[in-house]
Amino acid sequence: MMSHLTTLSAQQTQAHPHPSSAKVMRNYQVVLKCADQSQREEINQRIRILEERQTTLLTPYVVKKAIDLYQSNPKEKFFVRKLGKAVGMNPNIAESAFHWLQIAVKGKIDKEKKVQGMFNFLLKNPQQLIEWVIFGRSPYTERSLENYWKLKRRYIINLLVNTRTQADSYWRKKRDNVYTSATLKLNHLLPIYTQLDVLQAIDDALFYQQHEFSVLPKLTKNQQTFLNKLKLLKKEQSTVVPFLPSWINSPQPSRWKSLKELAEQLAQVLGKPTRKLFSAVRLIVVFTLFDHYMQSVPQLIKALPVEQVVPPPFKRKKKGRLPIKLLMKKDYVITREGNSKELTNQVNKQGWTELGFPQKGKKRLNAQVHFPKKVLEYIQNGARIKVFQVSCGKAPSYKPRVDVVLEGTHDCFHSSTLLQSYLHHIPAKKTSVLGIDINRLGQYMVVFNVPAPLPPDVMVLAKSYDHLSKKVIDELNLGYLTKRKEYNTLGSCKLKGELNRVYARRSRILREITRLLPHFLAAVLVKKKCKTLKIERLTADATGTKGALAKAIYTMPDSLFIYKKAVWLASLELGYEVKLKDVPPYHTSSIHHGCKGTLSRVKGQHDFAPCSKCGQQVNTHENAALNIASLKGVILPNDLFPSTHV
Ligand SMILES: [Zn+2]
Repeated sequence: MMSHLTTLSAQQTQAHPHPSSAKVMRNYQVVLKCADQSQREEINQRIRILEERQTTLLTPYVVKKAIDLYQSNPKEKFFVRKLGKAVGMNPNIAESAFHWLQIAVKGKIDKEKKVQGMFNFLLKNPQQLIEWVIFGRSPYTERSLENYWKLKRRYIINLLVNTRTQADSYWRKKRDNVYTSATLKLNHLLPIYTQLDVLQAIDDALFYQQHEFSVLPKLTKNQQTFLNKLKLLKKEQSTVVPFLPSWINSPQPSRWKSLKELAEQLAQVLGKPTRKLFSAVRLIVVFTLFDHYMQSVPQLIKALPVEQVVPPPFKRKKKGRLPIKLLMKKDYVITREGNSKELTNQVNKQGWTELGFPQKGKKRLNAQVHFPKKVLEYIQNGARIKVFQVSCGKAPSYKPRVDVVLEGTHDCFHSSTLLQSYLHHIPAKKTSVLGIDINRLGQYMVVFNVPAPLPPDVMVLAKSYDHLSKKVIDELNLGYLTKRKEYNTLGSCKLKGELNRVYARRSRILREITRLLPHFLAAVLVKKKCKTLKIERLTADATGTKGALAKAIYTMPDSLFIYKKAVWLASLELGYEVKLKDVPPYHTSSIHHGCKGTLSRVKGQHDFAPCSKCGQQVNTHENAALNIASLKGVILPNDLFPSTHV
């Protein structure tokens, strides 16, 4: 898991597409075949002992030495060896431990940089700073940093929340010297405020927001709604104000959660239970506390030492054991056949290799490592075995887990198995220019300008996605609301859990579809011997009407992901570069390709529309694909396929 994350982040930090010779690393799980169940348990036990030994090596002293070593030279090639020398440990189990340590230390230092970046941002944005201090969250900050660092929102949220907690514990330790509880009652306890203060804050917030918006040429719908909510709170201030001082003055375990409840309560009281007042109320709270906090908080933040706010690696005892890394060419705590090159050759030839698990005073146990077909394909394409990672399994199966790390150029990591399996569904008629239209999940989710039926596995997934969305989730939501109205805590908790599981299942389905799609598109390109694939230029509107699939594509870090990958896969197969072009998105769905008449959309009908000129019932998706294929496009840069999801 951990190494998987580091592989990902290592690749994400590369800003430019790799030249074709650049090496990348990928992790895959392989199967360990033991002689029988009792031997498997014994092998598992031996791995477990190694893991425990490894963990005990990572003492605070060793961790500190590692941080020093990393900071003196982040690019040290022989980090593991140097660290071993520095702490006087060199058994080969330490090399595995120190390898993990190196990764963890790098992670800590990277995180320190992120925390510093976050502080710098907050210091420049006082309103967000106060928001973060009170709530541990700040949606504007989260959005900005997400865009700036191109990282997942979840990561940024965790960064904000964790840093907030850790800053608090730092301050608590320091309080006796510099900070007194009277000047700083963060989050849990806030300074005492009166209704008069809140009244003033409502005026200030409204004034501020109107002023901010007045410089914009035109307000978006969201901005207008937000302003209206502030105005509503101002208009109803005699009802609203009494609620706030008591919320501020009473201790709350989580200000973020309790503000949500407060906002819902206010909406109820104002007779508008569906209004979402959360962010407007939040702004008023920020304005109430603003002056007081601005006196101390910026100085406090400036004085925070980031290296102490980000905890050192392996600090928490229950961290879970780390897999054993087989880094060495020599005999190891777990033995293997030959060096990386010999191993790769062996696996390439016979599809498996052997690991040995020695233990002092006992017979050495051997087990076969079998490689999945896909991974063997990568090795045949030229990828090389770099490292094995072995970890013990838990009850009841006690199945050890083995991962292999492969290294190779980008072109190694592709499999044409899926593509091949899709080929025979597709009519063979040669078409050198293909146009494609992507829509909501279902029968018409991917439509070309020539007939190319969706493969059955993709259809099945689309159907179950549809079923979950239209039936299961609605029913669960309804049940959940009913239980909540009845104050049935147990029942509503159960349903909430079930609902979360269904959402998770649905997003897994969508992920699987986006995994399969490039292979299907590539199969169409290959079968049609296509030279150019044309797509509609992606516009920023992710909330559009095209549904989940388009939304998933539009909101991907690289929104051209599916097309680029399809073109890359097809080019490898065809032996020439298929071009990818985008065309302007105007009128592709409203002009009838045949006669240039206008298609008039019928409400609630997405798939067919009558043509105003020739009267034909036109399939809007096929029509769009035909238009896209016929428009003049702009070539998209032919960079190497940039993703880690192969
Ligand atoms: Zn027509």
